[in-house]
Amino acid sequence: MRSGEAQVAFPAVPESAPLPRSSSSPSAHGGSAAGAGLRPAVIALDVGGTDIKSALVTRGAHPGAPDEILVERVVPTRAAQGPEVSVAAVLSAVEALRDEVPAGYQVRGVGLAVPGVVDEDAGVVLNAENLDWVDLPLRQVVADATGLPVGFGHDVRAGGLAEARLGAGRGEPDHAYVSVGTGIAAAIVLRGEVYAGRGFAGELGHGGVRGGTPCPCGGSGCAETYASAAGMARSYRERTGASALEVPGSAEVLARAAAGDAVAREVWDRAVDRLGELVAAMVRVLALPVVVIGGGLVRAGDDLMVPLDAAVRSYLTIHPAPRLVPALLGSAAGTYGASVLAWDAVAASALEPM
Ligand SMILES: [Zn+2]
Repeated sequence: MRSGEAQVAFPAVPESAPLPRSSSSPSAHGGSAAGAGLRPAVIALDVGGTDIKSALVTRGAHPGAPDEILVERVVPTRAAQGPEVSVAAVLSAVEALRDEVPAGYQVRGVGLAVPGVVDEDAGVVLNAENLDWVDLPLRQVVADATGLPVGFGHDVRAGGLAEARLGAGRGEPDHAYVSVGTGIAAAIVLRGEVYAGRGFAGELGHGGVRGGTPCPCGGSGCAETYASAAGMARSYRERTGASALEVPGSAEVLARAAAGDAVAREVWDRAVDRLGELVAAMVRVLALPVVVIGGGLVRAGDDLMVPLDAAVRSYLTIHPAPRLVPALLGSAAGTYGASVLAWDAVAASALEPM
């Protein structure tokens, strides 16, 4: 891999590159060593603080079509039991899918999308607070355990990569994918490449005002603490005493706002205004013509997109307002992103000198 800061290069138009025929790492699973006549598949993992979403994926029916998911599983990450247990959970999620490969398919690679501060070039999770992973060389760990090429990336950048190749960002060489869910983060796509900034690019949700609500990042008053989907629900609960059972997420805040709850309205409007400010700040620096909005919050549809568009415009003067588009891959963006990373790793391993 070349040095530099853009970790994941891809053409603006999805490619249909022929897959490598040889299997440099013969697998104990999944058929003959040569793999002749077998359809290639990859294992894609979207690792979260609570669950690991895993999928066995094969190429779509035609070039540019989303990958076809053959088998899908969700298992607990078991983060509370410590890093050894959660890493073991990742490895057993991979093995479980290798045991479920249907006849006629052969697993060629693995893709991992992980949260936190992630150095894609090095294959290392620098710091994932929710998982208690620090300086974890996860790509190598999985490569050693499986003998397969392993693609590796940040969950939001992987989601952005999937949206760029297969979803709402297709055909837009310069854009951002902003994920608003548990946190707020963006994948910045410039000239068709995801810019990672050594793992720190696009962390929009952090950095706030002194004296605000403490944030897991160590700061306080960060946008994530009140403008993410999780932050909205938490702020509403703090102000009203509602339980997490009553208001588990932003959907309930929106429903209450629509029903005339003044506190819910204030929480929702404040969050959307802040999101608009964050998007506008990115546009001010990068002049992005398109911003894809993803993550759990986008399920609110026009209730989010219409006021967010107005908020973005209100924070811009000389800059043309970006076109805001909802993400297409939804909560599967991370899984599709992991599969894109896996296919890239498979293709790269075929190019390596013997
Ligand atoms: Zn923060």
